[in-house]
Amino acid sequence: MNIILLGPPGAGKGTQAQRLQEKHGLVQLSTGDMLRAAVASGSEIGRKAKAIMEAGDLVPDSVVVQIISERLDDPDTAPGVILDGFPRTTAQAEALDAMLAEKGLNLDAVVELTVDEGILVNRIEKRAAETGGARADDNVETLRNRLAVYREQTAPIVPYYNGKGMLKRVDGMAAIETVTAALEETLGLA
Ligand code: ADP
Repeated sequence: MNIILLGPPGAGKGTQAQRLQEKHGLVQLSTGDMLRAAVASGSEIGRKAKAIMEAGDLVPDSVVVQIISERLDDPDTAPGVILDGFPRTTAQAEALDAMLAEKGLNLDAVVELTVDEGILVNRIEKRAAETGGARADDNVETLRNRLAVYREQTAPIVPYYNGKGMLKRVDGMAAIETVTAALEETLGLA
């Protein structure tokens, strides 16, 4: 089973993807995590992505499309993947469709975690405090830009998948366990 988790920064995609990975053996593919690893390693991709990520902007589509395409070729992803943070633009969604077709893979569901934007800012401030500022982009100023980028560049992929009849919605504001249970129900994993 291959699924996409959609939702703005702080919606809980990463938390839920990890829980689904642990409980159901699906593999979380977080482009944010992969890019942060690239930055930490000082690779060429990381050097290019660093400033873009710190500003809360999007790295070029071609970069993330290649990263995901390569990961999907790794045998450990065969049980299925949870895409977390990808696709983030309509061009990435179209590239994903093309690569899945080419690799003979299916997309089973796209789930949007719906949120209250006012609460998101509090969540991210809390995450920044808890992780001791481990993420350079977890501050209020960058968060506002990440939310604007989400609205402008990522939100349009919601109607893209809705038009294909693939979109499902889960309330991302409920308690962590409740959101997981709703996801499992929606995905037929319960
Ligand atoms: P968020 O908490 O905003 O969901 P992520 O960890 O998913 O954060 O992503 C952090 C940053 O990594 C983004 O703000 C962006 O700069 C970059 N990034 C992650 N995924 C993508 C993508 N699919 N396309 C472009 N940039 C991306």
